[in-house]
Order: sequence, then structure tokens, then C-alpha cells
Amino acid sequence: MTYHAPLADMSFALKYGAALAPALEEGFFGDLTMDDVEAVLTEAGRMAGEVIAPLNRVGDRIGTTFKDGAVTTAPGWKEAYHAWCKGGWNGLASPTEWGGQGLPQVVNAACTEMWNAASMAFGVGPMLTMGAIDALNAHGSDKLKRAYLEKLVTGEWTGTMQLTEPQAGSDVGALRTRAERAGDGIYRITGQKIFITYGEHDLTDNIIHFVLARLPDAPPGTRGISLFLVPKFLLNADGSPGARNDVRAHSVEHKLGIHGSPTCTMIFGDNGGATGFIVGQENAGMASMFTMMNRARLAVGLQGVGVAERATQQAIAYARERRQGRIPDMPATQMAPIIAHPDVKRMLMTMRALTQAARTICYATAMALDRAERSTEKAARQAAHARASLLTPLAKAFSTDIGIEVASLGVQVHGGMGYIEETGAAQLFRDARIAAIYEGTNGIQAIDLVTRKLPLAGGAVVETYLSELRHVVDAVNATNDPALGWSGVRLEEAVDSLTRTTRWMLVQVDKNADEALAGATPYLRLFAVAAGGCLLAQQALAALRLNADAGPRIALARFFAENFSVHAAALERTIVEGALGVIGADAVLAQ
Ligand SMILES: Cc1cc2nc3c(=O)[nH]c(=O)nc-3n(C[C@H](O)[C@H](O)[C@H](O)COP(=O)(O)OP(=O)(O)OC[C@H]3O[C@@H](n4cnc5c(N)ncnc54)[C@H](O)[C@@H]3O)c2cc1C
Repeated sequence: MTYHAPLADMSFALKYGAALAPALEEGFFGDLTMDDVEAVLTEAGRMAGEVIAPLNRVGDRIGTTFKDGAVTTAPGWKEAYHAWCKGGWNGLASPTEWGGQGLPQVVNAACTEMWNAASMAFGVGPMLTMGAIDALNAHGSDKLKRAYLEKLVTGEWTGTMQLTEPQAGSDVGALRTRAERAGDGIYRITGQKIFITYGEHDLTDNIIHFVLARLPDAPPGTRGISLFLVPKFLLNADGSPGARNDVRAHSVEHKLGIHGSPTCTMIFGDNGGATGFIVGQENAGMASMFTMMNRARLAVGLQGVGVAERATQQAIAYARERRQGRIPDMPATQMAPIIAHPDVKRMLMTMRALTQAARTICYATAMALDRAERSTEKAARQAAHARASLLTPLAKAFSTDIGIEVASLGVQVHGGMGYIEETGAAQLFRDARIAAIYEGTNGIQAIDLVTRKLPLAGGAVVETYLSELRHVVDAVNATNDPALGWSGVRLEEAVDSLTRTTRWMLVQVDKNADEALAGATPYLRLFAVAAGGCLLAQQALAALRLNADAGPRIALARFFAENFSVHAAALERTIVEGALGVIGADAVLAQ
């Protein structure tokens, strides 16, 4: 089963869910038109479907091999990577001054979804390179930028992001990798990093590691972390890769999914220390890394969307073919395709609705990043930055949670065949699982939402967003269209629940942090079912207004509102009342 980019759904989510249409109309992106955007998406869809998607199985079955410190990727991966780079996809949203195409992040977000739908193990590599480009561009010295940026932008060299150590996972401040000053802006890096994605591979002739380490006189915790650029090969005077640096891959992990992506243990300093160059200021590494991580978090959310989309396409195709049972009035000699059964329809609609809601949340986050970067007014840039900060944990955690849920439903729709590797449904389920863990676990995302994002500007950032959701609810109610069923009522209840719970959270975060933290994950879900419902309704309203394919968009928005936004009221109770149960957990867990 191959992958077809869902261009109509993507385009609709971009234009009317993430408000790309009005941005293009106001000339926010200069001369760029929707025709241009759609041409890019069509080409990306072709690349994803024809070049990358066929790698997905071979990457899973053969994975990567590790011998004498070298990693070999699965057959065909190198050629596909080079074709992808040649197409200019790596630098799609990178600055033109370094050879990128300078297209909006929101367009890159749609493409990121496609690369990951085609193969998540493939997509995760460039995702980290793009994060590295952002960090270097924002915080690196001119000299470092001149030496490394262009090659990273073309994809000729890849980037890694190295935070994790055995004792420092979610708690990044516990890291111990050391950096000693060696004069002339050079540092010697020693230590060990684990779980490093594409830490070693055969796709390119250099790998540029972005490594968090601690100076000897650094303060403890995250305030004492610095970011270093550590190339696998040091550069000759002409900029070409020269002597091997003192860094190597020690081993590659065997894991549940994304077998095509090498996950490496890295050793720095076997011979006195790897040569590293500081990115930004000493002890300010977390700020630099956050530039990298915020984009990467959105990109991981898009991995969830991509896998969900592919699982949905595959399940619908299977459900049309597979025949079991009968539907009313069918002759006894015939069997119905399982797609005719209401319970299978329910699963498929759930898959479609969750995917489109998560997609739109991710695109809206990317659009906020564009406005934060490109708005001419300072106040507009700040407001957009705050919006992107608010939505990033939602985009990452909700999308990757539903990635797993949708891939699991994909297995279910296939019945026993879903559990057999041949169909590929099982691979999607295995691949999807990691996205809820890396780039900050989803638990950490929920904590970030509640403790850092809700209090932004004294709660004004989230209140502004809530008032926008309320406008959507009013517009739904104003249509009085019976095809929308209970949507208006359910969305109104959901936004009311979200508003009350947000205000409760804002008080608890200061007064009773444990209760706020215990309710953080269900709160993130409550936020997503309310916001996702409104974003789908917004697309349904646009379809009605334009008289364009309104039937399916209304049905999908209605399904989400009546089946998912309706959970908001129960989630509110879980958070406000049920969290107390978690506080009492010690007695239970001690048994
Ligand atoms: C395939 C793969 C690829 C990866 N790629 C990279 C990479 O390229 N670069 C890199 O640096 N790292 C990478 N990682 C590491 C990844 O980011 C970490 O695994 C992740 O951050 C979680 O850290 P941990 O595994 O130590 O889990 P832990 O931090 O031990 O967490 C275990 C559980 O405890 C919870 N928890 C921990 N602390 C708290 C808290 N304060 N409050 C509430 N709950 C908490 C977590 O949510 C989680 O459920 C990768 C991991 C894998 C498996």
C-alpha cells in the first residue's frame, strides 16, 4: 500500500484552518500565491509518494547495520536522500542568504507531514537538520555560519541534536558531558550521549553534531549548559571535510519502530576531547537549544499527523476490499465490504477526524511561527510568538497521541491481518509510538502547557485564544444549518469547560502545584478537543460559504464535535475533581 498526499485536505486546513488564505490575500508572504503553494505541495506529494514511501518497508525490515563504528542505511536510502536534497526540500523554509528557498514555515509544515507519512524513519533525519539550521542561524557566530550553514541547508551535511545522557533524559539539567576551554574559541568535549538520531550514517560525507555540555565552572542545572557545534570531520582551509574529530558512534539501538533511523550511543573524547565550537554564549545553551526544539516539537507533531494519515488511507482501502458479514436486505449468498458496517465506519471516521484536527492544530502553530518571524510590527511579532509558544505543546502532544490511537485503529480495521507484518499496519503502529516520547515526552509537554504557557502575560495569551474559539462557536450557532447537528452546542460546552478549567489551572499552578500537575495531561486533551473541534468547524463554515465540497467537511466537523469535543465536560471533571485521586496515589502504589 503506497501513500497519496491528501492535497485537498491539506490545502483546506492551510487556507481556512490555519488562515493562510487571508495571509496570502493581505500580501503577508509577498508575491506568494495559493497556486504557488499548491504547486509546491503537489511536487512534494509526488516526491513523498514515489521516492520515499517505497523505502518504508525496506527500512523497517533491514533497518541499519553497524560495523566498526560505521552505520549503513537500508538499500535505496542513500539514493532517495540525495534525490530529495536535489529537489531543494531540505532548505524549503531556510533563509535565502544561505541557499534556502525562504518559503513559509507553514508550507514546510505541510511538506514535513508528507515526508513522515511516506516514512517516519526517513523524515526524522532532515527534521533534526532543519532544527540545527535554525539554531545556528539564530545563535551562531558569522564565522560558524559561513563554514557550515550552506551545506546544512542543501542537506549535503546533516545535523544532530544531542541532549540525552543515561542520567539526563527529561531532566536535561542533569547532563555531565564536559567542555574545557582550549583557547581561540575552541573547546574540548568529553562524555557520552545516548539515543542520538542519525548520530552516524552513510548518507553524507560530514555530520554536524549540536551537543549540550557543561563548562568546569558552570552553575548547576540548566543555567550551566552550553551548546557546541562538533563536526564529525573538521574542516580544511577550503571548507571541505578534513581530519576526523574525536567523536564516534559506539553502538546502534535495537528498537520497537523507525528501524530505518539509526539511534546511536555517541562517545566524545577517546583521545583528549572532540573539538567543539560554541554556539551562542557560554551557559546560554538552553536558549539556543530551545530554538531548535520548538521547531522540532512541531515537526514531531507532524510525524504523528503523517503516520495517522497513512494509517487512515490504508485502513479505508482495506475496508473497501475485505468482505465479511451482511448488511440489511443483502442476499444470503453475498458478503458486504466491512466499510459498510457502522462500527467500521465509526473507526474510519474517528481516524479521519482526529487526523484533520491534529493537522490543523499543527499548521496553525506553524502559521504563528511565520507571523512571529515576519510581521513588521513588534507587537504583532510578540503576540504571534506567544501564540506559537501556547500551541507548540498542543501540536506536539495531541498529534503524537492521536498518531498512536489512529495507527492502533488502523490495525483494528485490518482485524487479524493488522497484527501480521505483511500489511504494514503494524509497522505504522510501532513507528508512531516513539513520537509521544522523544522531543520532550507528552507528559512534559502537558506540564509545559500548564506551568509555562498558560501563565504567559498573566493568562492574557490563553484568554485571547479562548475568545477566538468563542467567535467560531458563535459563527457555527449563527448558521442554524441542521447538517451541523449538535455541533454548536457541543463546541460551546467544550469552550466553556476549557475556559473554566484554564482559570482553575491558573490559580492551582501558584496555589497547589501538585493538583495542577496531576491534571496536566487531561487538560492538554481538553484543550485539543475544544480547539480541534473549533478548527474543523471553521473549515466546515468556509466550505459552506464557498459552496465547495461542503458535505464531507460538515460531516467531519460534526463528527468531531459530537464524538470528541463532547468529552470536554468529562475531562473538566477529571482535572478538577479526579486529580485529587492522583494525589492519593501513594497509598495505592505502596501496596
Ligand atoms: C528512538 C529515539 C530517538 C531519540 N533521539 C534523540 C536525539 O536525537 N537526541 C537526544 O538528545 N535524545 C534523543 N532521544 C531521547 C529522548 O528525547 C528521551 O528518551 C526522552 O526525552 C525521555 O527521556 P528518558 O528516556 O530519560 O525518560 P525519563 O525522563 O526517564 O522519563 C520516564 C517517564 O517519566 C516521566 N517524567 C520524567 N520526569 C518527569 C517530571 N519532572 N514530571 C512528570 N513526569 C516526568 C516522563 O514523562 C516519562 O513518562 C531519543 C530517544 C529514542 C528512543
